[in-house]
Amino acid sequence: MAEYKKPDYLVLVNRDHKVPDNWLDTVEFVEAKNTIPEGVKLNENTRYLADQTFKLEKKTMEAFLALQAALKEEGITILIDSTYRSIQDQKDIWDLFERLRGIDYVRQYAAVPGTSEHHTGLAIDVCAVKDGRIINDNDEMIAEEELFSRIHKRLPEFGLILRGPKGKEDIIGYAAEPWHFRYVGVEAAKEMAEHDFVLEEYLDWKSRQ
Ligand SMILES: [Zn+2]
Repeated sequence: MAEYKKPDYLVLVNRDHKVPDNWLDTVEFVEAKNTIPEGVKLNENTRYLADQTFKLEKKTMEAFLALQAALKEEGITILIDSTYRSIQDQKDIWDLFERLRGIDYVRQYAAVPGTSEHHTGLAIDVCAVKDGRIINDNDEMIAEEELFSRIHKRLPEFGLILRGPKGKEDIIGYAAEPWHFRYVGVEAAKEMAEHDFVLEEYLDWKSRQ
């Protein structure tokens, strides 16, 4: 068997920190597709959820699938909405959102190409199914506070974190995004939850230990 490649699961990628050079050499990717629950109808805004093949770093994908299965037992269905993106993919998203919502919105929600955590393969955006309907619109997801807080509670046990929680916007440099999760490993995720740290705060705290 080929040697398992291990990326730095605590890598910091944000407005001030670009994806490290040669990052992709350290990452082993796996692919998955969504299974759309029976009875859920797709339309032009949700068709991609069934059609696309999604690529994530191996452990990140395993963590997501385990989270998804655990939530299903609670009666909550989440789907993959967005995973690994190349720098070109990010450019396309930036242009699309700028056209649709304007430059102020895009600056608040989207990363400059090269600085998106999605370039690492360690980040995933999810969407949810509620009452037989897919909720994948950003504003609608933000309004589903109760549903998403139940999802967020389960993240640390699978090594995932909510990257941009409410109240930490100044530290992370983006609006809160209840759908964007990042893999950091179980130990780090639990420590961050315990201290209510975002990744920037955690890395700073760690460096002073
Ligand atoms: Zn995201």
